[in-house]
Amino acid sequence: MHSRRSFLQKIGWATASVPFVNLGMNQFSAKPLSGEKPLRVALMGLGGYAGRVAEAIQNCKRVKITGLISGTPEKLQRWGAKYNVPEESRYNYENFDAIGSNANIDAVYVITPNALHHNHTIRAAKAGKHVICEKPMAVSVKEGEEMVASCQKANVQLLVGYRMHFEPHTLEVIKMRHEGEFGKITFFQGLCGFRIGDPTQWRLNKDLAGGGALMDIGIYAINGCRYMVGEEPAWVTAQETKTDPVKFKKGVDETIMFQFGFESGVTASCLSTYNMNNLDRFFLNGEKGFAEMRPSTGYGPIKGKTHKGEINAPVVVHQTVQMDEMAAILLDGKKPLVPVDGLEGLQDLKIIEAIYKAAATGKKIALK
Ligand code: NDP
Repeated sequence: MHSRRSFLQKIGWATASVPFVNLGMNQFSAKPLSGEKPLRVALMGLGGYAGRVAEAIQNCKRVKITGLISGTPEKLQRWGAKYNVPEESRYNYENFDAIGSNANIDAVYVITPNALHHNHTIRAAKAGKHVICEKPMAVSVKEGEEMVASCQKANVQLLVGYRMHFEPHTLEVIKMRHEGEFGKITFFQGLCGFRIGDPTQWRLNKDLAGGGALMDIGIYAINGCRYMVGEEPAWVTAQETKTDPVKFKKGVDETIMFQFGFESGVTASCLSTYNMNNLDRFFLNGEKGFAEMRPSTGYGPIKGKTHKGEINAPVVVHQTVQMDEMAAILLDGKKPLVPVDGLEGLQDLKIIEAIYKAAATGKKIALK
């Protein structure tokens, strides 16, 4: 059994009832919870994932839902009643710019389809609210850059909903890598995909999704590769296959295999697909050991083993821990072990664009 003493004890998982990762950038030192001031969040886009986030927030130590933004009046009424959000803090997409004068809202959590993130984030920032934006942060590098610039100009923070950055099994592997347990890293494999259903959903509409599987699920392999290897890729090659051009129209990728090379000599091989199940696996190899996670990015429980045995880390509700940690980032200036800011989201967009270019041209695309 892989011992978790060195990491988990240091970061305070002994007090596992506290759903707080408590990792300081500077070597995992425990930081006291401030605990007093809650982060007051307005959820925007009351769909499937927002429902999961809303339920997870009910168990947060310091996050409250104090606003709702939706295009569906019936949802505003139902969610408002369920989560005790008063009518004056319920908005639609036309009038939510007025959120600036609502003193009970600190941040807007944008959980709308990908292509709407840019407009929704910039408007929330202009209203003077911090923004948590779902992945992918936007559908192009240009949009991502504009979002970062707008938030900087408005003097608000921009975070991206990378829930895995706070997941204990994931953090244990990252910590082991920091401690040299795997030796020099040599290889990463990330397999991310599922068979997508309803052909009419926005995820299969390029105008709303910005692409296909890569934007939605392949991004986990990209982002995961970066936090598992601990280095930015220097180049990418990619190959696209499509078995169903009716369901996966032009610009909506069904399956893309992509490979990264790193300056250190590490290589990575990843698969992104909307047409295969049972793909949720990370494998990190080093000269002295390995880590294998399966499932690696699903809602959990995340499971993993290393050359030392099973990773025995706490099982948490990802979104509960994510939101409490984001409260600490936004309100206390806490630095997470793996960044979740706009630049982190932008880096994934740069890699996504390079993968699409590599797949379209058959060329090796430099990333630096
Ligand atoms: P859903 O389709 O379930 O919900 C999206 C919601 O956005 C809708 O219910 C609707 O809410 C609102 N919306 C506004 N405009 C539109 C439009 N033109 N078409 C459709 N919906 C619209 O999607 P998800 O909740 O699954 O995904 C939303 C975002 O969250 C995506 O960016 C996705 O990538 C991300 N996500 C992240 C996950 C994670 O683990 N981090 C997991 C799942 C999704 P309303 O009626 O209230 O306006």
